[in-house]
Amino acid sequence: MREQDPKARIHNFDEVPLGYTPDEALEEAARCLQCKNAPCVKGCPVNVDIPKFIREIRDGDFRGAIATIKETNNLPAICGRVCPQETQCQAPCTLGRRFEPVAIGRLERFVADWEYENGVSIPRVGDPTGFRVAVIGSGPAGLTCAADLRRLGHAVTVFEALHEPGGVLMYGIPEFRLPKRIVGAEIEGLNRMGVEIQVNVVVGRTLTIDELLADGYAAAFVGTGAGFPKFLGVAGENLIGIYSANEFLTRVNLMRAYLFPEYDTPVKIGKRVAVVGGGNVAMDAARTALRLGAEQVMILYRRTEAEMPARAEEVHHAKEEGIEFHTLVNPVRFLGENGRVVDVECIRMELGEPDESGRRRPVPVAGSNFVLPVDTAVIAIGNEPHPLVPRTTPGLDVAREGTIVADEDGCTSREGVFAGGDIVTGAATVISAMGAGKRAAYAIHRYLAKGRAGRKPGPPIAAA
Ligand SMILES: Cc1cc2nc3c(=O)[nH]c(=O)nc-3n(C[C@H](O)[C@H](O)[C@H](O)COP(=O)(O)OP(=O)(O)OC[C@H]3O[C@@H](n4cnc5c(N)ncnc54)[C@H](O)[C@@H]3O)c2cc1C
Repeated sequence: MREQDPKARIHNFDEVPLGYTPDEALEEAARCLQCKNAPCVKGCPVNVDIPKFIREIRDGDFRGAIATIKETNNLPAICGRVCPQETQCQAPCTLGRRFEPVAIGRLERFVADWEYENGVSIPRVGDPTGFRVAVIGSGPAGLTCAADLRRLGHAVTVFEALHEPGGVLMYGIPEFRLPKRIVGAEIEGLNRMGVEIQVNVVVGRTLTIDELLADGYAAAFVGTGAGFPKFLGVAGENLIGIYSANEFLTRVNLMRAYLFPEYDTPVKIGKRVAVVGGGNVAMDAARTALRLGAEQVMILYRRTEAEMPARAEEVHHAKEEGIEFHTLVNPVRFLGENGRVVDVECIRMELGEPDESGRRRPVPVAGSNFVLPVDTAVIAIGNEPHPLVPRTTPGLDVAREGTIVADEDGCTSREGVFAGGDIVTGAATVISAMGAGKRAAYAIHRYLAKGRAGRKPGPPIAAA
């Protein structure tokens, strides 16, 4: 796919890949073998009928193609941009055994973008059932659950703690990978289906799940994600100039620091930035720092590149942009002057036996310490679930890592309370969160259909 030149793009926040032209999409779609057993669909957590939509593109029926995708996926422009297709739908593609697999994600993005330029059609919603369902959190899990519940005819209110809906899609993933207008447009689709979204409502503080259930909501879905940052726990980590990736990316994305001074959120990063970690979050933080004007951006990762959890495409883009990769390196302390970070002391690592993650465990090499001067450090070593909702919802079982215990359908230990996405699995992917939201919507529907004595259903709403 055509992309912005690395030399130009490190000075702007515009999207890096430019998308297919109609001719390119037709050409790519024509490569699909239309396998009868459709291995690609088995690799898709939301079961998009991939051969059908690709056939429709091949036949020039772009409207039909997007309608096919939207039967099971309400966020196609997002998924077409950030899904790890290489390990999901594209991984079992028959063509991929000898050639490049069909670029399913790029084709999905193409038809989703085509629809935004040519008029968006809104999925039909079912006849009103008279039930109201509360969805807590507006990330991909919550948005998918809300859309599917609405299609089944239930009235849905999404409660979001932040001032804008979208979860990580809005506050985490940067503009140059996922433009906010795309997330906004897909959320607008939900609004047009009649999903109500209330922002600035912190469930567990503003109101509790018990209060929602007492207030007439017949069931609740918890999709509050895993937005609680982890730290290294080393000396000096609280010096000025050291951010968690969450804080750094939220300031830049959601609080529009990249548009300073037009928006009054400054992020001072200086010349040398170290980002600790090797996942998508680390790549996003590093590439963001570069675009904010850093002269040298280093990734510090304690294993080798082969073990990096980031998507290969993101690593490739980061390298093209000049990000330095320092692998087998781990920070042991930060050093400061006048309260501000000036150096990071690191130790070299080597790989030992595999650990519980299946990856070889990094082991420090004694006496190999060295110091790198830095003006800013960003810690991107993972996130945990926020404990607020579990703590304020009696009877909700929580695992040791703080995740809510739920089965495949999202059923929790509390009757009427369902959960899915990162709050159940720990930090994972957009599409796995969407799959969980979808399964939970159908489980909630079955639960409501069974009928429960003693619960007054909320007021019915008109179909959109
Ligand atoms: C920087 C970054 C880059 C990523 N890149 C990719 C990628 O390229 N591809 C990919 O597939 N995945 C990526 N991921 C992971 C992916 O974004 C997550 O797995 C996914 O967003 C999880 O969805 P979710 O709906 O469970 O939670 P979230 O997206 O975290 O949404 C949860 C929402 O709940 C809200 N909330 C929390 N507590 C409360 C409360 N008490 N009351 C009300 N609302 C609350 C939060 O504000 C948030 O809006 C990335 C993650 C990060 C952080």
